Amino acid sequence: MTVTSTCCTMAKSSKSDSKKKVVKDAKDRRTVVARGLKCTSCGMEDSLTISTYTITEFFKEGMLEVVYLCESCGWRGCDVYPMNEGRAERLEFRVEKEADLNVHVARSSTSVVRIPELGVEIKPGSSPEGYITTVEGILDRIEAAVKVKARSGTVARVVRQMREGKKPFTLVIEDSAGNSRIASRKVKKTGI
Ligand SMILES: [Zn+2]
Repeated sequence: MTVTSTCCTMAKSSKSDSKKKVVKDAKDRRTVVARGLKCTSCGMEDSLTISTYTITEFFKEGMLEVVYLCESCGWRGCDVYPMNEGRAERLEFRVEKEADLNVHVARSSTSVVRIPELGVEIKPGSSPEGYITTVEGILDRIEAAVKVKARSGTVARVVRQMREGKKPFTLVIEDSAGNSRIASRKVKKTGI
């Protein structure tokens, strides 16, 4: 099953306190870096704003989140970039206990996210959709995305067990640009 990611804000899937904290801090640090650009979606001149903010928690080197917003058509794009340049790599994180669900994940728009045990993957969409969340936040997104699909009952049941820490699973992120991160020492990295 393939899921195309459609949501770029951290706020939408935020439930735990740690995630709320990220959103609050992020708003405080938001900087508009460009205004009045032409929108790549609707073509309107003088309508696109680009803002960025820096997240210094969770990831060793710091991450930059970039938000594109068109005032004319409402088009919105997001992406994340590490402060250090990355290289194409595959990240593999084994989720074995409940605490692993709180590990932070920066998913860049160039990456494919997979949970092999679910047979689900999140592929890059047509708009940039990078985000920072937690492992649990990834499960939230998968759950929301599969709700309308045929296998939703089975997937939702397994996701619930994973969320309760009752079913170990593997989170795999393959990023051709190397901009994604999983904030844990347990992560296995291999070149692709
Ligand atoms: Zn537009």
